[in-house]
Amino acid sequence: MSELPLHAEKLDAEDELASLRDRFVLDDVVYLDGNSLGALPAHVPGRLADVVRREWGELRIRSWEESGWWTAPERVGDRIAPLVGAAPGQIVVGDSTSVNVFKALVAAVRMAGDGRDELLVDATTFPTDGYIAASAARLTGRTLRPVTPAEVPGALSGRTAAVLLNHVDYRTGRLHDLPALTAAVHASGALAVWDLCHSAGALPVGLDEHGVDLAVGCTYKYLNGGPGSPAYLYVREELQDRFDSPLPGWNSHAEPFGMSPEYAPAPGAVRGRVGTPDILSLLALEAALDVWDGVSVTAVRAKSLALTDFFLRCVGAYTEPGRVECVTPERHAERGSQIALRCPDAGEVMKRLIARGVVGDFRHPDILRFGFTPLYVGFRDVERAARVLGEELA
Ligand SMILES: *Cc1c(COP(=O)(O)O)cnc(C)c1O
Repeated sequence: MSELPLHAEKLDAEDELASLRDRFVLDDVVYLDGNSLGALPAHVPGRLADVVRREWGELRIRSWEESGWWTAPERVGDRIAPLVGAAPGQIVVGDSTSVNVFKALVAAVRMAGDGRDELLVDATTFPTDGYIAASAARLTGRTLRPVTPAEVPGALSGRTAAVLLNHVDYRTGRLHDLPALTAAVHASGALAVWDLCHSAGALPVGLDEHGVDLAVGCTYKYLNGGPGSPAYLYVREELQDRFDSPLPGWNSHAEPFGMSPEYAPAPGAVRGRVGTPDILSLLALEAALDVWDGVSVTAVRAKSLALTDFFLRCVGAYTEPGRVECVTPERHAERGSQIALRCPDAGEVMKRLIARGVVGDFRHPDILRFGFTPLYVGFRDVERAARVLGEELA
């Protein structure tokens, strides 16, 4: 252990994003769990109260049109689009990530055609994606093959219909090479489906630039949409006409109020809708996205890397060597916006950290997970978290 000069105040003073912190409701805990549930932007309760009291309470049914409720899934999708490098008209918001994984995978298999009988899934995926992929494979008569992202290039063949990958590993914080893996998937003639839950709002994604076919992600982590806020589905424009949803609800109909017994899909992103949108959650999310106005994802990424670098330096200074093992890659190109530290007593250690106002989370069986949300976490927070961690590990 060495006491390095750890200039947290200086780093905070130089931080261009520091003023954004005031836009969130935060007390004096160090909140390093925004990759699980983002903090509350301070203006959201007022906006939500207006939606409930005026739009619902006074306007009632008129709000579907007058308050823009009906078109909110596409409108909010277009607000998320610049954060993930997508042009407008390709993202729709609604349902959970799990449900959108299902829509995306079944639609991808249908687009890939009959000759391709294999579905590859990230073997290290967040579990829900794996469960849904298994069911999608069963329903479409394909074989599911779990492979690690590193094994994907070698596993691809003329049999591959689609590949489902996580952009950032939720456990280790490893960032996978989306451009290279997408290109490899395309070279085999398959479709690439990405889960962006731990990357959107933390780092540049470049969906259009890298030709991603389909993508999904949640909005309650780095996008601060609130507990259970609806997820999103991206379908690349060129594929939208061929997107054959396995859940073709009336909201995705070309004429939803035609009440026709025959299904006819709407054009564009709307085709990804299912049933009546979750208006209260959706409009809380829409308001929450205001904090991104004028914020560049590049600046967010730069600060995220500075925060995680600084955290690692502080942990090095305050913790006995060998007490924890960092499982998050050192290289910036392979690092998301979290640091995962392994130690045998991680569950107990995290309980003590939380009791002392340093909120991260524990991932089974031995991972201490710390998420760094550059909109509202500063360098002094990071130094304090590492100091308390060092004390609890001593
Ligand atoms: C958080 C997360 C989910 C969550 O799925 P829900 O259906 O929204 O509960 C899915 N995939 C990944 C990779 C996640 O990190």
